[in-house]
Amino acid sequence: MPELPEVESVRRGLVEAKLHGRIVEVWRSNATLRVGTSRAAEHLERLEGARAGEVHRRGKYLLWHFDDRKRHALGLLVHLGMSGRFGLALPEQPRAAHTHLVLGFDDGREVRFVDPRRFGALGVGPLEQMQTQPPIGALGPEPLDAGFDGAQLAAQARQSHRPLREVLLDQQVVAGIGNIYAVEACHRAGIHPLVGAYRLQPSAWDRLAEALRFVLEHAIDNGGTTLRDFRDVSGHAGRNQDELRVYGRAGKPCPGCGTTLVGFVNAGRSGVLCPRDQPRPRGHVR
Ligand SMILES: [Zn+2]
Repeated sequence: MPELPEVESVRRGLVEAKLHGRIVEVWRSNATLRVGTSRAAEHLERLEGARAGEVHRRGKYLLWHFDDRKRHALGLLVHLGMSGRFGLALPEQPRAAHTHLVLGFDDGREVRFVDPRRFGALGVGPLEQMQTQPPIGALGPEPLDAGFDGAQLAAQARQSHRPLREVLLDQQVVAGIGNIYAVEACHRAGIHPLVGAYRLQPSAWDRLAEALRFVLEHAIDNGGTTLRDFRDVSGHAGRNQDELRVYGRAGKPCPGCGTTLVGFVNAGRSGVLCPRDQPRPRGHVR
């Protein structure tokens, strides 16, 4: 599932495409996307005639800015779900199976959204509303923002008795983290992923915040992680899967200490840890 680095890779691809023209055609398939969403509530028709502006990301969401014909600021909110991807094409090129949205630009190019598993979500609305109301308005701090540190992370999470990994996956605690990067960051910080969050001391939160930044930035540099479906705007898979240190590597030696990595399942999600670098603590975690 695309997490922050994968969504950021898509954002950068859309920025590099320099799409600054007007949308002259909006085509949407008849299929609904994520359960609980409806085509009618997406309001994609509002993009007809709109001019494309900046492409932003918040957590795992893309927020593409547009100005409509009356110069009202609109936002196209996109969640890639499990398998959503954007690509550029020309109108004469055949559409891939599972194409659900086509935005035709006045320079002749098309932006196509393809989502075989249909867990993605699309929606257009007034930009300010999209920026301040849920889902974006409900997100926790952005881990790559300048002010993000252990104190900020602790402020969101230190009261929680939930296992740390689960807390990191809570988008209201910190935005954009999924299972891969939560597991990688816990290993990098040397903290057991299932310890109750309330047991972490400030020094452990600092280490964790730094580890999150590191694993996310490293993955962005590698164009994201592709375990299965993820592709960037050019159709390329990411390269970060080759550099994951623990995720998906249960039974193999820890790259840090050589101890055999151990898999676990908690709350229906699998994970991996190094029993030597991430021992289950008895008391506080420093
Ligand atoms: Zn180790």
